[in-house]
Amino acid sequence: MGNRTLNLVALLILILVVGFVVFSAVKKEAGKMRPMVMSPEELEQLETRAIADDDFVIITLTNDRYHLERCSHISGPTEKVIYRVAVDRGAQPCPYCISEE
Ligand SMILES: [Zn+2]
Repeated sequence: MGNRTLNLVALLILILVVGFVVFSAVKKEAGKMRPMVMSPEELEQLETRAIADDDFVIITLTNDRYHLERCSHISGPTEKVIYRVAVDRGAQPCPYCISEE
């Protein structure tokens, strides 16, 4: 009887070890694939990067705010201008898509 229990324990440990190895391998693979699939947080980080003078931004004509093109807070009539022009006009950066240094 004692022997049988020992066998069961050994089997259990084996299952745990195999499970752990497979889990680690899957996790490693998933880690390798990450750069190709970006999470929403990473995309947002990309979009809130600093803007160069000749990057295009979208100005909302109603409240003179400038946005990045893919910002979801753009509403009303807009105009596409380069960043420098937006600043020259006194437009304010959108707090959602533009990060000021
Ligand atoms: Zn915006």
